[in-house]
Amino acid sequence: MTHTIVLLPGDGIGPEVAQAARAVLEKAGAAHGLPLEFSSHDIGGCAIDAHGDPFPDATAEACVEADAVFLGAVGGPKWDAGGPRPEAGLLALRRALGAFANLRPITLFPGLEHLSPLKAERASGTDMLIVRELTGGIYFGDKVEGDENASDLCSYSRQEVERIARIAFDAARGRSRRVTSVDKANVLATSRLWRNTVIALRDADYPDIELDHVLVDAMAMKLIERPAAFDVVLTENMFGDILSDEASVIAGSIGLAPSASLSQTHGGLYEPIHGSAPDIAGQGKANPVGAMLSAAMLLRHALGQEDAAVTIEGAIAACLSDGIGTGDIGGSASTHEVISAVCERISA
Ligand code: ATP
Ligand code: MG
Repeated sequence: MTHTIVLLPGDGIGPEVAQAARAVLEKAGAAHGLPLEFSSHDIGGCAIDAHGDPFPDATAEACVEADAVFLGAVGGPKWDAGGPRPEAGLLALRRALGAFANLRPITLFPGLEHLSPLKAERASGTDMLIVRELTGGIYFGDKVEGDENASDLCSYSRQEVERIARIAFDAARGRSRRVTSVDKANVLATSRLWRNTVIALRDADYPDIELDHVLVDAMAMKLIERPAAFDVVLTENMFGDILSDEASVIAGSIGLAPSASLSQTHGGLYEPIHGSAPDIAGQGKANPVGAMLSAAMLLRHALGQEDAAVTIEGAIAACLSDGIGTGDIGGSASTHEVISAVCERISA
């Protein structure tokens, strides 16, 4: 059966990195006998220019029908002056796909320890997956605006906690079978529901998974002290927002980091964590690794093709350990040269 993949290149370096994702998907697809079909659609600033809408109907229809969606990046100074916002397209896309689970792997590649702001011996071996709830909690609760008083409601249901915890436990089974759940259960009622729900689910359905709990303030320290100690980190929306940004700097360049946003109803959204990087767009300087690792996540999570995902990840790791990389990681290769080098190692 043919798998349909929608590419949303977007703005700035988005098209350059989307090309990288497509190249490795085609190569790994051919190597593993997977029939893949691609179509490209407009989103963000380029969609505003072409259709007056950052998330046109044709894009929305293609995305909800696809087996998976890959996004480059959206936005740029051109659309900062006023009018529709490119970023509104991204929010509408996440909503259309029902993406409730954000996965952010944080991997410090061997040989790139010097890129980390942490001492090499401290950062070495960092390889964790942050699983962040994306559609609940304080960001989505009722808001009361005011000059003297204001409030934001934080609310979670047992069902919302269970479905994100399941994603974390399932992911842990493909890794080191350890989950660290992060909350603030000494203070917050939502965190006590969170903790009790996570424990009950582990006891009922995942007795093989080692589970521990860390308070979010302590976690902010531990991520810096001993990042290599963590495997899967499970947390709610706001804590995950903060901790995933903190953790992402441990691994060096923003250009290396992938992400996935999973849904119960669709194949999910896959995108590098970096933005449109207008300062380097069109110059062949964009690091395509975050996008290519996102493509591997697409194969793993949307299409269930673990072997093909591992093939891409292995080819990327081989290139990096051979010193092939773009300027942001101290290399001298262009975007295209990195893409070619990774593709060569996929067929090998
Ligand atoms: P956002 O667009 O997410 O709101 P931003 O515009 O601050 O945030 P980016 O567009 O990611 O962030 O760019 C931040 C910096 O990182 C820029 O200097 C950019 O050139 C650099 N950068 C981002 N992505 C890459 C990449 N793939 N390769 C090399 N450098 C990158
Ligand atoms: Mg940007």
